[in-house]
Amino acid sequence: MASRPFIVGNWKMHGTRAMLSEARAIDRAAQRLMQVEIALAPPFTLIHPVRREAEQIGVGAQDCHPADGGAYTGDISAAMVADAGAGFVILGHSERRQGHGEKDKLVSEKATAALDAGLKLILCCGEPMEKRESGKAIDHVLRQLKASLPDTIEEPAERLTIAYEPIWAIGSGEAASIDDIVEMHTAIREFLVKTFGEEDGAAVRIIYGGSVNAENAAEIVGADEVDGALVGGASLSAESFMNIVLAVQEVIANRD
Ligand code: PEP
Repeated sequence: MASRPFIVGNWKMHGTRAMLSEARAIDRAAQRLMQVEIALAPPFTLIHPVRREAEQIGVGAQDCHPADGGAYTGDISAAMVADAGAGFVILGHSERRQGHGEKDKLVSEKATAALDAGLKLILCCGEPMEKRESGKAIDHVLRQLKASLPDTIEEPAERLTIAYEPIWAIGSGEAASIDDIVEMHTAIREFLVKTFGEEDGAAVRIIYGGSVNAENAAEIVGADEVDGALVGGASLSAESFMNIVLAVQEVIANRD
C-alpha cells in the first residue's frame, strides 16, 4: 500500500447538478481525512461545477479526444477538460474500449494529448474473463498496457497512475481475489520498473478497480502493490464513497 492511498470515484454517465451536493459532502469529509488522496471523475458537464465546489479533492475527466481541436462533433479535447478544471483524465476504461471500440493506439494518442495539456493520467487496463480462464490474464494486461502508454512521459511517478480493472469485476459485485490482484499488480510493477527504471517504476501508483465497496476496500487497498482504488458504483453517494475512504483510513491508522 502507498503511504497515501489514492481513491478515485468514477461517476461514469451519472449525475446532473443535483448531484453536486454529493461532491460537496465528499469534499468536506475529505478535509478531515488527509491521509488518503481522494478524487472524483464526474461527467464532462460537471467538471467545472465540481471543481468550483471542491477545495480538497482532485477532479478529473473520464476521457478526452487526441486532437487539440477541430471538426469532431461531440468530442472534447484534453485542453478543454483542463480548462474546465480537470487535473487528470481516466483513459482506456474498458467501457470506452468495448462500447466505443477504442484500441490501444488511440488510448496512447489520447494519453500523449492529455500530457501535452498538462493533465495527469489514470490509464486503465484489464482482462476479459476468457483470458483469465485460459491463464493469459497477465500477458493480455501487460501487452495492453505497453501499447496504451504515451510515446514519452516525463516524471512518470508524478503523472501516471495505472488502474488494473478486470473487465468481469466491473459493476458485477464480484471483485477479483486478493491473490489475483497482488499477482497482477506485481507483474505490472515489474513492467513499470523495466520501462521507467527502478526509482520511477517503483513510484508509479497502481490502483485496483472492480466492485470495490466498504466491505472489501480495506483488504484490497491494504494488499501488496495496491496503491488505491478506482470506484464506480459505490462512488455515487457521499456515504458509500466515504465509507470506502474510512475503511482505507483505518488500515493506515492500524499500520502506523
Ligand atoms: C469502474 O467503472 O471503474 C469501476 C471499477 O466500477 P465498479 O466499482 O462499479 O465496479
